Amino acid sequence: MSLPLLTKSLFRDGSNCPRRIHLATHNRKLAAPLDEAILARIETGKVLGEMARQLWPTGHLVREIGVNAVDITAQVLESGADIIFEAAFSTEKFFAQCDVLEQLHDGSWHLIEIKSGTGVLKPDGKVKKPQVIDDVTFQAIVLRLCGLQVTKFSVGHVNSEFRLESEVTPHGLLRLTEITKFVESNCEKVEAEMERLYGIICAPQAQTVPLNKFCDDCGFMSHCHPVVGANELTFLPMIRSGQVDKLRAKGFESILDLPETEFDLSTPTGVAQHKVWLAHLSQTISVEPEFVEKVESLPYPWAFIDFEATNPAIPRFRDGRPYQVFPFQWSCHTREHAAAELFHEEFLHEEDSDPRVAFGQSLLAAIQSAGTIFTYSSYEKARIKDLATVPESGGIELAALLSERETDLFDLIKGYTYRTEYRGSYSIKKVLPAWVPDLSYKQLAIQDGGLAAIRYEKMLDGLGTEFANQIATDLRAYCCQDTRAMVEILDAIMGSQKITQPQSTLF
Ligand code: SF4
Repeated sequence: MSLPLLTKSLFRDGSNCPRRIHLATHNRKLAAPLDEAILARIETGKVLGEMARQLWPTGHLVREIGVNAVDITAQVLESGADIIFEAAFSTEKFFAQCDVLEQLHDGSWHLIEIKSGTGVLKPDGKVKKPQVIDDVTFQAIVLRLCGLQVTKFSVGHVNSEFRLESEVTPHGLLRLTEITKFVESNCEKVEAEMERLYGIICAPQAQTVPLNKFCDDCGFMSHCHPVVGANELTFLPMIRSGQVDKLRAKGFESILDLPETEFDLSTPTGVAQHKVWLAHLSQTISVEPEFVEKVESLPYPWAFIDFEATNPAIPRFRDGRPYQVFPFQWSCHTREHAAAELFHEEFLHEEDSDPRVAFGQSLLAAIQSAGTIFTYSSYEKARIKDLATVPESGGIELAALLSERETDLFDLIKGYTYRTEYRGSYSIKKVLPAWVPDLSYKQLAIQDGGLAAIRYEKMLDGLGTEFANQIATDLRAYCCQDTRAMVEILDAIMGSQKITQPQSTLF
């Protein structure tokens, strides 16, 4: 078996979990297939990469990917090319393929890494994304080990100040930020880490790594942790990976092992974690009296609202900025009075144009007579705040309505309830199955807001086709489910308090 090579992506993943890079090197087939959200991010990166190449029209593209590109790169360098895209370099241990290499007047090279984010430095010049500096440092080390004199380093990123007037151009959308001094001062640290990680991928076996927060977005999750316990340390709200490690180092394997002294009750995080700890210890459903008191005081009609929005890296609508959020869909369930049937209204912008005016005006008509407007988290409020800057959208009126009548169901649930089934998360996707097990997202074609945004873009690209019509149907079903879920969760919590007095129920 040939010795493995440490690549930039392995280097990035290895800083979290040594097992992950061993599996990715030797057992990649054990990983779950990439989901649509990751594939969409990869596609955006590709499009931006291709656009960036237009900034150097005389550049030479190495079309091979991976180690096969190393010899071709050598030939291209030999031929005297002074701008090379996807140049590849390899030592016995490490491999790097660079987005752009540009030869400077003194014969040395400028390495440019293209990123889809909006920048790597903060306004005060400090580093905003250390991971990007590490990525470029990794490449710098590999190129220098291969004998290339690289003296300048930059990141090509999306220009957050770009506004779409007539068309998207590479010079408008992309901006270069030099990071040479950060890379140079980072080399020693990254070199040591590269050696450490290389040792890990060369080990005969993958290390065993217990469940941690960094497993949440790992493709090997179902291989490593096919069964997740009911009282995992990772269920403590706001816990970080390092804290999980520290608790394990003290010998605590689950929430039930923790002594009360582990919680710092002088901090909001400590108080929140302590509450969850108590719920796991007592195995009770906790609903505090304030929940019922607050809900019973809310005036009717009740309107439950939920929005979907898209924020593409490359602006789609006139005057749009990169990653600007455009709400395109709302759902509203209304209950006129306590005994009334639910009434449902919805809006979906099915045109390839700025949706905000139609969105805002239709929403205003739907909720202006509501006595209470239920939202779930601050997302809807943030979208309305954006809308208030759009003339004729009704955003100012909507913002006034929300400031008077909005109740955030997420805050109520987080503040006054807990069930062990929440697993430390108050997201509607975790809270719903705890209270309303019969209402599931599993049968829906779209099951989260990120996917809704991706599919919406696809719908706009195919308007008028059966494919787009199906997406519109799926979007309606998903957004409707969100507001329906809010109603049913609220009913279930209130119902549980009518059946069982006092407020805690053993199960
Ligand atoms: S699931 Fe967790 S332990 Fe397993 S490889 Fe991924 S991050 Fe590491």
